[in-house]
Amino acid sequence: MRRQIGETGRVLFPPAGLTVAPRFRASTPPLTDARSRLPPRRRARQQPPRVPRSASLACRASSSFLADVEQAPPDPILGVSVAFRESTNPNKLNLGVGAYRTEDLQPYVLDVVKQAERRMLEADYDKEYLPMQGLAAFNQATARLLLGDDSDAIADERVATVQSLSGTGSLRVGAAFIAKFMPGAKVFLPSPTWGNHKNIFADAGVEWDEYAYYDAETIGLDLEGMLEAISSAPEGSVFVLHGCAHNPTGVDPTMEEWEKIADAMARKSHVPFFDVAYQGFASGSLEEDAASVRLFAKKGIEFFCAQSYSKNLGLYAERVGAINAVLADSASAKKTVSQMNRIARAMYSNPPVHGARIAATVIEDPVLFERWNEEMREMAGRIKTVRGMLFDDLTKLNPDKDWSFVTRQIGMFSFTGLSEAQVKRMTDEHAIFMTKDGRVSLAGLSQAKCAYLANAIDDSFKNA
Ligand code: PMP
Repeated sequence: MRRQIGETGRVLFPPAGLTVAPRFRASTPPLTDARSRLPPRRRARQQPPRVPRSASLACRASSSFLADVEQAPPDPILGVSVAFRESTNPNKLNLGVGAYRTEDLQPYVLDVVKQAERRMLEADYDKEYLPMQGLAAFNQATARLLLGDDSDAIADERVATVQSLSGTGSLRVGAAFIAKFMPGAKVFLPSPTWGNHKNIFADAGVEWDEYAYYDAETIGLDLEGMLEAISSAPEGSVFVLHGCAHNPTGVDPTMEEWEKIADAMARKSHVPFFDVAYQGFASGSLEEDAASVRLFAKKGIEFFCAQSYSKNLGLYAERVGAINAVLADSASAKKTVSQMNRIARAMYSNPPVHGARIAATVIEDPVLFERWNEEMREMAGRIKTVRGMLFDDLTKLNPDKDWSFVTRQIGMFSFTGLSEAQVKRMTDEHAIFMTKDGRVSLAGLSQAKCAYLANAIDDSFKNA
């Protein structure tokens, strides 16, 4: 049986050619309101706020019809930057948000970005709307960067790629696609994960749960727990996987572990949803950081993958990224693009062009591409250097504690194991701003500040 979309947008049958787990084939509830599939507690949380009865036009002068809207809590990550800006402590250090800083702790615009922008200015491009799918040159380049020059999936036209609003927007389009075409599918997120994953899937009306990922005792991967979660999840579930540089833990599976994870996923017809926010930024090598995704593609597993160019090209504010679906056949890929376009059309119509042009120019030009690789190696290298220095300083302060996790972890972050009370001491006593889960962004640390941070960590472990 196949699922299709009727004129009204309601799901009638499974979408043609899309691999749909057997449990969806039997009886699929009509997609009326995604919220109706959520458990009662979560459904309640998702109800739109009630407009009070008193909100009539007559009383608007004295009280807004939105007066009963609850204040949203500050974002756990972006809120850290707000608190940092408000601090007057001269030693303050912002290790909250994952944004790269130079040794002088200043934002960094990549040399290749400036070169690409100069060329773009000379080419005198117009500012016409892009198609819903985005810039064709970017879409081709980004799929190739992810899957490799020799990708069979690309050669067979089995990859659906839609340019979207950086990693977040790409995940959101993917989540909306799941809500619409995989009704009843549950999404499993690693525990812990990047906090925004939960918002993204919940706002799309997709039910989510967590799977075991991090072992606090070994400060490493809980492979056994993860494999157990994969085998016990309902067939055809979606598993969000961080392609490289897991955020917040910095703990990635080895290639042998990825093999086991891929095989376990295939046995249950699960659909992996890769989140690749750090390709090239984790190890300094674009190839190495895409190895997990390419392994799944080689094994013929169908999957989604969201990409971001915020970190590796430093295009944070340009919102450059893509949602890809690597599928079994080209007809499915074509139809998937058409439906993702439809989702994008209703959400934001079409993506911004400037950053996509920069990325396409850098990826396609051999000279710029080489220079970009060099800059990524420099950025990843600077983070590795401060990791090493922090490890040395911590070991000097407390040689009895095993600090090796600092250098074992990968990417921008270090997951310190500091408790919430200890994090509070880090901020209150040392003006080190970081997320409550004990994560520090080493991209915001300079060599000059390593000893200061080590001292604060040691003090907070001992005295909070
Ligand atoms: N996924 C993960 C795991 C991330 O860490 C981030 C950035 N912090 C993103 C996605 C998305 O970031 P952006 O929307 O800037 O691409």
